[in-house]
Amino acid sequence: MLEIFKDVIKIRQVICKCHKTKIAKDGAYCIKINNKNQYWCNKEEYDNNKKEQLAKDSLYKTVAEILQIPIVTPFMKKEIEKIRVYYEYDIIRKTFIESEPKLNWFIRNKMDERTTEFAMFRYCITVIANNINDVKSRYIKELKALEDMFKSNTENDIIDDMILNNNESVDRNVSDISQFLD
Ligand SMILES: [Zn+2]
Repeated sequence: MLEIFKDVIKIRQVICKCHKTKIAKDGAYCIKINNKNQYWCNKEEYDNNKKEQLAKDSLYKTVAEILQIPIVTPFMKKEIEKIRVYYEYDIIRKTFIESEPKLNWFIRNKMDERTTEFAMFRYCITVIANNINDVKSRYIKELKALEDMFKSNTENDIIDDMILNNNESVDRNVSDISQFLD
């Protein structure tokens, strides 16, 4: 075998938890969970994945609370994933919260013991799909307003700094005067 290939084979490989592909162990981000090492391409990938998982859990919790069901079933998760292709979990969760009165009305008035999980959740998902774009645009607008507020705060900080600097120069003058007094 060529020397150069021997070196390549010697590189220890692990499976990235996110991509399920082999990556070099050196440089991979490693985290111990339940005494087992998990590897990720890098820390950012791990952090993003964790954030996504938390958002997903939070959405499931909200859905279960609003629909008054013990768990979100695999069928429901599958339906949610169809929307997830276009929208973040957080936006889906916000839409569920905003649609709660509509969903509650349906559960109270249109559902009986013959209503299947399929029919019930398909109705919910239709309501979510119809409202999610409005929720998202409103959310983006709110974020933008917050950003603008932050920007104007930064401008105020600059003004504060200018005032502070002026005070400092006043202080310096005072000390200059005290020098004269000495
Ligand atoms: Zn990866």
